[in-house]
Amino acid sequence: MRYNPLQLLNEVVKHVVRERDGVEERKYYRFRPSRFYGGSAVADAVGCILKCGFCWGWRVNSSPESCGEFYSPSEVAVKLISIARSRGYRYARVSGGEPTIARRHLIQLLAELRARGFGKNYTFILETNGILIGYDPSYARELAEYSFIHVRVSIKGCTPEIFETITGADRSFFELQLRALKNLLDAGVSVHPAVMVSFCSREDVEYLTERLRDIDERLVHQLEDEVVILYPHVVELLKRRGLRPRIAIDPRSWNYVTEV
Ligand code: SF4
Repeated sequence: MRYNPLQLLNEVVKHVVRERDGVEERKYYRFRPSRFYGGSAVADAVGCILKCGFCWGWRVNSSPESCGEFYSPSEVAVKLISIARSRGYRYARVSGGEPTIARRHLIQLLAELRARGFGKNYTFILETNGILIGYDPSYARELAEYSFIHVRVSIKGCTPEIFETITGADRSFFELQLRALKNLLDAGVSVHPAVMVSFCSREDVEYLTERLRDIDERLVHQLEDEVVILYPHVVELLKRRGLRPRIAIDPRSWNYVTEV
């Protein structure tokens, strides 16, 4: 039975978002330095509205009721800035789960970062599956108020069919990811697409390329390939879901492997 991510949202939010004294708090399970983007401060959030069969955070995201602690936007801002400053990083991001599911919390986090001078020297990278920004164009317009953000829309597979296979969600929601790119471009937000290619053929990639070209030629040149990383718990999930990547990365060597 395919699920509707927009319906799943209500169920997930019940466990990972709460209001305290008029402030929206969100659950996080870790704050850490990361080597990605040449060094970035990361807040790992709990909860997502997709169930990707290659998700490295699936253990946390599939048990949102028992994982993580609640933090206010100002607490998260302080932690991210502290990590970035101590490591000399230029970037901060929210990873682990899907950042957009707690909208007021995310917008308040951006406001807190700005109030602390973050926007002058740093970039906030919003890594998202795009579903909620595609669903509601006002979300993109609200993000556009923060000039220090860059959005990376991570598309789950190249076609609606592959999206359905790897996420378990109804294939019609594939379109919202592409719509997110359009909404963000229309709102003037810095954005680029990434796509999980591990389950795609050359023809599938060509299909996505044409879909991106229909939105904006620049997206075609900015498209970033994402590949499954074979952490042991990801291998376990792939097996459970009957998914076989055509190409993946072995985290012991960081080399590409095929015919997994
Ligand atoms: S969208 Fe990201 S966080 Fe959500 S299930 Fe997929 S890989 Fe995991």
